[in-house]
Amino acid sequence: MAHYDYLIVGAGLYGAVFAREMAKKGKTSLVIDKRPHIAGNVYTEKVEGINVHVYGAHIFHTNNKEVWDYVNTYATFNRFTNSPVANYHGELYSLPFNMYTFNKMWGVVTPEEAAAKIAEQRAAAGITEPRNLEEQAISLVGTDIYEKLIKGYTQKQWGRACTELPAFIIKRLPVRLTFDNNYFNALYQGIPVGGYTQMVANMLDDPHITVQLGTDYFDDRERLNGLADRVVYTGPIDAYFGYQLGYLQYRSVRFETELLDQPNFQGNAAVNYTDAETPWTRIIEHKWFEFGKDENGNDLPKTVISREYSSEWQPGGEPYYPVNDEKNGELLKQYQALAAKEEKVLFGGRLGEYKYYDMDQVIAQALRAAAQA
Ligand code: FAD
Ligand code: UDP
Repeated sequence: MAHYDYLIVGAGLYGAVFAREMAKKGKTSLVIDKRPHIAGNVYTEKVEGINVHVYGAHIFHTNNKEVWDYVNTYATFNRFTNSPVANYHGELYSLPFNMYTFNKMWGVVTPEEAAAKIAEQRAAAGITEPRNLEEQAISLVGTDIYEKLIKGYTQKQWGRACTELPAFIIKRLPVRLTFDNNYFNALYQGIPVGGYTQMVANMLDDPHITVQLGTDYFDDRERLNGLADRVVYTGPIDAYFGYQLGYLQYRSVRFETELLDQPNFQGNAAVNYTDAETPWTRIIEHKWFEFGKDENGNDLPKTVISREYSSEWQPGGEPYYPVNDEKNGELLKQYQALAAKEEKVLFGGRLGEYKYYDMDQVIAQALRAAAQA
């Protein structure tokens, strides 16, 4: 029977990058995934010529030149720039928070007027040291924007009041006194032409790498461990330990995807529904990640949309977002202490480390881990 240097649990970005880097050093890997496909949450599937982001919209963005060069060796990236639109009870606003948003909200025209309006609302709220997401949001953009564009969306997304969430979540979003609708503060941004699945397939395409799908590590753990010298585990850290110290909390997302017989549903890749009443958080119209064209530059006659519904993760469901609050942070430390004793095992990726990582951070971590292995 074949023996491998590494058993890699998870064919997502972390697992694929790690396997490829070890292959460059002549090491063999068996990469398994319980899903019937590679690429983890960045998996894309072609429907009517449209690359559908099956586990939610993924826009690649980074300031890390090394990571950008790395992904560009496995895919060609287009010039897509993420500019979501916020829909608050039918009022449309530009995201992230910028001069277009401030003009629509308050009628202000100059950066100075916008800054004054934010300062006035911050002062009225009396916040000096923001202690939670609500206070952080108000001190960044004032109460009006908090009420219309942040409060409802965040409560739907996280299932928790903004006063119970850590401030850092909202610091992900830029606030700009310029007319720049780019959602990310990143030097490099785009979508891989042909979809993420093809990019990950290219990473895994090496004679040192064997991929086995539809294989759950926990169904056959002893035998799988026996196939390799070391294990790289990218599933949820608490699942690895049989939840013996209790469950870490995750947010899950349900995607309701529809193929529509019309060319244009909402005119943008992402529209966020920021009120508390609409049950979904956002609608993604996948074709706009590639400008509504197929690979030959032809307009696509149909469209695919996905409504996203956020919910608390339950055992047996798909964990998507780690809830990085204090309570979970404490439990994570205890699991990390157990993980440190597993000498043959490396824990990596968004679930293995229980961190709200973007793709570029996951790739950077995998490159670092592989360099040290
Ligand atoms: P994953 O992709 O989750 O891969 C882990 C793999 O392990 C999965 O395929 C899983 O099936 C497998 N696995 C787990 N347990 C087992 C087991 N017991 N046996 C076998 N296999 C197992 N990042 C961005 O940079 N830009 C974005 O726009 C963006 N949008 C996002 C939108 C959503 C809705 C979500 C949830 C995330 C988003 N991200 C985005 C983050 C991005 O998805 C992650 O950073 C990245 O995909 C994580 O890669 P990973 O390899 O760590 O994990
Ligand atoms: N957010 C918001 N309104 C929006 C978009 C985002 O209040 O229209 C908040 C929300 O709390 C969210 C956080 O900003 O969790 C980070 O948003 P981002 O788009 O980065 O989240 P992700 O891409 O991880 O879903």
